[in-house]
Amino acid sequence: MLARGNDCEDSLVLELVDWSELLKLGAWVFAAGALGLVGLYFYQPQRIDFFPKSTPDPHPPVDPDSEHLFSPGIRVAVVAAHPDDPEFYLGGTLTELSRAGAKILIVMCTDGDKGYYPRFMTDAAENRRVRQLEQIEAAAEYSAEVVFLHEPDGRLKSDAKVIEAIRHELEAFQPEYVLCFDPPYPPRLQHSDHLRSGEATEAALTSCPSVKWVMRYSTHAANYFVDISKVWPRKAELLKIHKSQFTGEPSSMVMSIIRSRAEADGKAIGVQFAEGFRCTRLG
Ligand SMILES: [Zn+2]
Repeated sequence: MLARGNDCEDSLVLELVDWSELLKLGAWVFAAGALGLVGLYFYQPQRIDFFPKSTPDPHPPVDPDSEHLFSPGIRVAVVAAHPDDPEFYLGGTLTELSRAGAKILIVMCTDGDKGYYPRFMTDAAENRRVRQLEQIEAAAEYSAEVVFLHEPDGRLKSDAKVIEAIRHELEAFQPEYVLCFDPPYPPRLQHSDHLRSGEATEAALTSCPSVKWVMRYSTHAANYFVDISKVWPRKAELLKIHKSQFTGEPSSMVMSIIRSRAEADGKAIGVQFAEGFRCTRLG
């Protein structure tokens, strides 16, 4: 702020200020700040769906032959991005499937190493080791096999290499049902690896004739819901296996997010808790 003086002094100071230079400097500072924010947004892996696609219309409920799905020996493959995704999004459904006698394969695209953080903030090799073990331990609860594709956490691409790796695992396992993320209808805030793993799975499915149904989770356009009310307490137990993510216990914020999602899905079919899917018949 200019010091008050007499009128002649004030006008002299004002004349000395180069207003156009000052404006230019301001514009540069603003542009640098905006660029920095854009850079930060693309550096970190969370993505905001700024223009969410509205739910398909009409969008009738679909039954992916659920009697068959929950019957002994049915082969179900889950494609996920990070260790803890299956428990976070599907803990109830996978518990019900394993109790019904399904054979489950989990294809895990990354090891959840958080290697995109600067090295002083994380030990990627240790994260990789711990998180793989946690996912293997959680999968044992469903008697599921886990295959890791070891793609970089936070930087997953839906490129030919990843598509081919997923296709290879699906062809070897011959599932009838594939559960994957839903890139066209994601929640408002979504990890980019989730989107990429869903895209890669959809591309891989074009040449997997064993697959009859694709069931997309983490979707805002569900047309089928699995009632998980009976196994709800198991979901928290399963998440606790991922100690590195939830420091031994899922935080109350994480649990309230999971709970309100499950309650909203439950409301759709008149039960207490459910997990929603956008299902499409392929075969
Ligand atoms: Zn994830």
